[in-house]
Formats: sequence, C-alpha cells, structure tokens
Amino acid sequence: MLIRSVRTAIMLLSLLFILIVALTVFFLALSEHRNLYAKYVENDLNALTDNMASDLVGILSQPDFFFELKSYLLGLDSYQFIKSAVVYDPDWQPVDIFVGTDYAGQEVSSHGEMHLWREQKPGMYREQGILVAVKRIGDPDLVLGYLVVIDDLNAPLGNSTLNMAVHTLPVAGVTALLLMLLFYVQGNRWLRPLVDLSRFVRQVEDTKDYRLKIPVAGQYEIASLTDNINSMIEAIRIESDINQEYVDLLETRREEMEYLANYDHLTGLLNRQYFMTLLEDLLLSGKRRPGMSLMFIDLDGFKMVNDSMGHNVGDLLLVAVAERLKSYAGQYDVVSRHGGDEFLMLINHSNSDEELSSIAGKIIQGLMQKFVIQNWEIRISASIGIAIADADICDPPELIRNADVAMYHSKSQGKSRLSFFNPDMMRDYQRRIDISNALESALVDNEFSVHYQAKVTDRGRVIGAEALVRWTSKTLGFVSPAEFIPIAERAGKITDVTRWVIDRVCRDIHEHLRHAQPCLPISVNLSAFDLKKHHMVGFIKGAFLKYDIPAGQVEFEVTEYSYLDNLTVANRFFGEISAMGCRVALDDFGTGYSSLSYLTQIPIDVIKIDKQFIDNIGKSPRDDALVITIIEMARRLGMEPCAEGVETREQAEFLHLNGCDVMQGYLYSKPLPLMAFLQYVEQNKT
Ligand code: C2E
Ligand code: CA
Ligand code: CA
Repeated sequence: MLIRSVRTAIMLLSLLFILIVALTVFFLALSEHRNLYAKYVENDLNALTDNMASDLVGILSQPDFFFELKSYLLGLDSYQFIKSAVVYDPDWQPVDIFVGTDYAGQEVSSHGEMHLWREQKPGMYREQGILVAVKRIGDPDLVLGYLVVIDDLNAPLGNSTLNMAVHTLPVAGVTALLLMLLFYVQGNRWLRPLVDLSRFVRQVEDTKDYRLKIPVAGQYEIASLTDNINSMIEAIRIESDINQEYVDLLETRREEMEYLANYDHLTGLLNRQYFMTLLEDLLLSGKRRPGMSLMFIDLDGFKMVNDSMGHNVGDLLLVAVAERLKSYAGQYDVVSRHGGDEFLMLINHSNSDEELSSIAGKIIQGLMQKFVIQNWEIRISASIGIAIADADICDPPELIRNADVAMYHSKSQGKSRLSFFNPDMMRDYQRRIDISNALESALVDNEFSVHYQAKVTDRGRVIGAEALVRWTSKTLGFVSPAEFIPIAERAGKITDVTRWVIDRVCRDIHEHLRHAQPCLPISVNLSAFDLKKHHMVGFIKGAFLKYDIPAGQVEFEVTEYSYLDNLTVANRFFGEISAMGCRVALDDFGTGYSSLSYLTQIPIDVIKIDKQFIDNIGKSPRDDALVITIIEMARRLGMEPCAEGVETREQAEFLHLNGCDVMQGYLYSKPLPLMAFLQYVEQNKT
C-alpha cells in the first residue's frame, strides 16, 4: 500500500478535490466567457451588416456604382476578423467581393465557403468557427441585392480565451494553492492527534507495556477517542495484571507439581519414579560408566522409632538420614527415597568392589552415629545390598531387585551388614516369591495343620502346650514356620494364618484336648501384625463362644520385638485379652531390646527365656548368671519364667534348681500332631 495513513489519504483526496473544483470553475467560467463573447460579436456583426445594407441601398441605386462599391467594401479592412463579404444582385449573382487581408491566402477555400450562403434567407448564422450575416439590400418589394458577410469567430474567441486565461489562471492558481495550504495546515492540526494515537497504539502493541498513557489532544471525536483508548488500555492493563497473577500462580503450581511428581515431599530426595527414569536413561543410553552400581539401603529399627516415638519424630529421622546419606554421595551419585525407610544410592562410577565396600561401610558407620531429634537420642542401623550394573543389565527394576535381594541377604545375616548381589541369592529370592505365591492357596487347599509341643514341669508332668503351625505345600513340600511366617508377615497374609490356627486350636480343645486333660492351657503365637487388627479380639471371643471353651484355656505368645513394635497397640490388645481371662507370654525373651524398663509397663504373665540362653547353660559362669538373673527378675516382677529349647537333663536340672519350673524342649517332647500329643499327655499322667 502506497498510502499508509488516513491523514495522507484525506489530504490527498482533499487536494484532488480542490484541484478538480478549481479546474471545473475555471472551465465553466471560460465556457461562459466564450458564449458571451460570441453573442457580443454576433450582435456587433448584425449591427454592422444592417448599417452596410442600408448604406448599400444608396450605392446600388446609382447607375455607375462599381467604383464606389469597391471603396465602400474596402472600408471593411478595419475589421480585423471579417473573412469575406460578398454583394449579390437580386438574382444572387456576385457583384463585388471583399476578402479580409489576414484571410487572403485562403481565398480559394473562402470562395467556396463564401458562396455556400448564396440564396439563404436573410438572418444570422453561426457555424464551425464562423459567423455569417445574410442581409437583403433594399425593400422586400424592391430588392436591390444581397449582402453576405462571413466573420471569423475562432481566432478572436481563441485570443479572448487566451487573454482571459492569462488574466484569471494566476488568481485561480493562487487561490487554489492558498486553499490547499489552509487545508493542509488545518487538516494537519486536526488529524495529527489521530496519527499520534495510531503511533501510540502501535507502541503499546510492540512493547506490551499497558502502563503507557497518551495525553489527550485534538478536538471533537478524536479527543474522546484518545480518552477511550486510554481507558481501554487501562482496562487491558488491569486484566493483564490479573492474568499475570494467574500465570504466575499456574507457573508456581506447575513447579510444585513437577516437584511433587519427581521428588519425595518429605526428604526432598528424588522419588522412586524419577529415579527409575534416570536409571533407565543411564542404562539404556550407553551413558553408564564402568563400575556403576546401586546400593539398596534399608534402616533397621526404624519402625520401632516411628511407632514408639511418633510419626513426627520418625519423619524428622528420615529427613536426617537423607541428609547423612547425601553427605556420602559423590558428585555424580544420586540418592533417592525408594519408600518407607528404604533408600537407593546410585554410585555413578567405582573402580573395585573394595571401593564400593568402603563406601557402604562408611554409610553403615555413619548411620550408626546417634541422631538427636527433638531432644531424643536415637540410634538406628542400616542393612545394605549392592548390585553392580553389569553390561547385561538394561532394566532398572532388575538392577533394583538385585540390590534388594542383596539387602535382604544382609538383613538375614543380622543388622548393619552389607552384601554384594550374586546370582545364588536369586534362589533364596525365588524361594521367597514361591512361598508367598503358594501361601495364597494354602488355606483354601487346607494345607496347614497344628502340632502341639508340651510344656512340662521338671518332673515331666504336662502343664500346657504350645500350638505350632505346620505347612505341607502341594508344590513346595514341607515349609518350616520359621521360613514362611516372616514371608507371610511381609506379604500381609499372616492374619489369615493366625485366625486359622486359633480356630483349629479351639476346635481341638473342644473335641479332644479337654477330654484328655481338663483345663490344659494351649499357647497360640501371634505376630505383631495381628495385634494391629481391630477385629482380632472379636474373632478370638467368637472362637471361644463357637467351641464353648473357657478363655483361661488359651494363652497367647508374642515376641518381645512384636510387643515393642507398638507398645500402645500391644498394651491395648493385651489389656482386652487379659480382661477376658487369657494369659499372655513374652516369647524369645532376651533377643530383642537392651532396655528392660518396659517390663514394668506391660501386662505380661509369662516370660519365655529364649533358647540361646538355655543352650549356653553350663558353658560359662557368666552365661549361667544371666539365666539365673532372668529367672529372678521374672519372679520379682510377678511373672512366670518358662524355658524354651531345653534339650539336656543338665539344663533341666539347672533350671529347676534356680527356680524355673516350666520347661519346653526336645528333652521332653518335640512338637507333635494332635493324636500323638494326646498319647503323650496320656503317658505322662502318671
Ligand atoms: P517359637 O514361637 O519360638 O517356637 C518355638 C520353636 O522352637 C518351634 O519351632 C519349636 O519346634 C522349636 N523348639 C522347641 N523346642 C526345641 C528344642 O529343644 N530344640 C530346638 N532346636 N528347637 C526347639 P518351629 O515350630 O519351627 O517354629 C518356629 C517359629 O515359627 C516359632 O518360634 C514361632 O515364632 C513361629 N511360629 C510357629 N507357629 C506359629 C504360629 O502359629 N503363628 C505364628 N505367628 N508364629 C508361629
Ligand atoms: Ca512361641
Ligand atoms: Ca520362642
């Protein structure tokens, strides 16, 4: 587009308009002038020829008029524009002819032209640049001749027009110019604000700065337009400020979402998903460096802290652990929270197993240092499994699983251990998976049974029994409870097993045991998970009712660890159980915690001294002293001591001498199937 501004367009149009108007007026004036001039010449010629016609009456009436006529016609020479004049006789025969000096050269054509008017009616004629006067000489009844005069109209008209143009054009031009100038100046004054406005709007558009304002200028609509544009831009500014706030908010939200999606909200470490993506990238993209490996770090004893000191302390401990772990990570190593109290550390590069062992050892040592949280001094430990990302491992879950398997191996070896993954461990891992899978159908397929192990006095009298579950799986064969119970616990399937055992024990009491020996108490083992199940107490009550057996006939055993795992929950549970009349035993006493103060806070009837203390009887005076102390302590606290795993007569003797009269062990009886146990009871009655 040639014209970009309305101002230029309006200006140009106006100037064109002025020019056209000026020219039109000029040409109209010119045309009017020509008309008037022609009329004036015609009148002149008419008057002249009338005079000549009357003069010629006198001349033609004379007998010899030729000379006089000639000199009369020559008098026409003073009329510059008379082309020709012809005097005819009454029969239209030319008598004398006059040709104007300026037209003498055109004589031949004039001749033709001048005789065209012969025999025309007298009058005035105007045609093609000429004016013709045809006059009769003499009265109508006495015609002496005719006079035809041709007057040139073109030349005088041209002259006159030129004259007029020469005089008027400068005036008209100057007027038009003045008008244009006036228009230009005024137009500029009016339209300038519009141009400024347009420039301003473009500036706002370019800079996106809605704080800009334009001063109100111009008049009429332009002033109000400026006003309106200012208010409109102000409205846009307010809207865009609000929008910006939303955008900022969205951006913050997006960052938060991204953080939540990729990082652990508690510790700020990478979360599992993000870590997996990172690992996948490293494993698949060939960015892996030699000796890249993964450490699976699992805290020992965290659950205890969490349950006994509260989740708040537990959370703070995890944060502190995360910080400590980060301090052991190299510049290119990555620490992630895998979930709960499990952490993963990706070691980007290592030179040898020794180097990795040294890092893991430092982590274990580091985590063993006390944590001070809310004035609590907390000590925990960690088990670590290490898996090296060999070239054949391309799958993050596989690498993590290997590290997990190695960690599990460390755990099974005791606390604060580290193990490197080796394929042999996979067999244990696979076995655990097989057991977990087989447990699914074990209850439905009725693969469990209960064996009873007698509890006896030093003289061999049966005073109770412990119910121990047995499982012969269709696919795996016999599986020891020591092996499958922890797996069932981890898989969340333990409570179904416990309920099955309780039901079976109650049924056995109802159908057999109470007939063999009335009121023989049977102990049932509970897992820590069972205590947390709200319905468990109700289930136990229901079983007693169902089989019509007194509550006092069933005891419950719970390990020291399970009890302390959640003291509040355990105390509530055993409070209700005791209230029903059941006794409670603390199993495996001495293997769990170093602090004994809790013993005064829990409602326990029996302490079962763990087999490891019994095994050591007679080996050293210190071991003996320990067993004596435990028995003594139990008695003082009003609890009954019970020795587990008694295998020799010496052990039994020692225990009896030191005040422990309840014993359980192979010395007396192994766990037996119901019928065999009934026989055993029968045999030992005497
Ligand atoms: P526990 O409760 O400490 O049970 C005693 C274990 O010691 C039993 O092993 C028993 O057979 C064994 N034992 C008893 N006397 C002797 C002895 O003189 N020498 C030796 N070497 N061992 C002896 P078992 O039946 O294999 O059970 C192992 C563990 O599995 C149990 O330890 C208990 O913690 C768990 N368990 C067994 N049955 C159940 C159950 O029904 N529910 C739950 N939650 N756990 C159970
Ligand atoms: Ca037990
Ligand atoms: Ca035990």
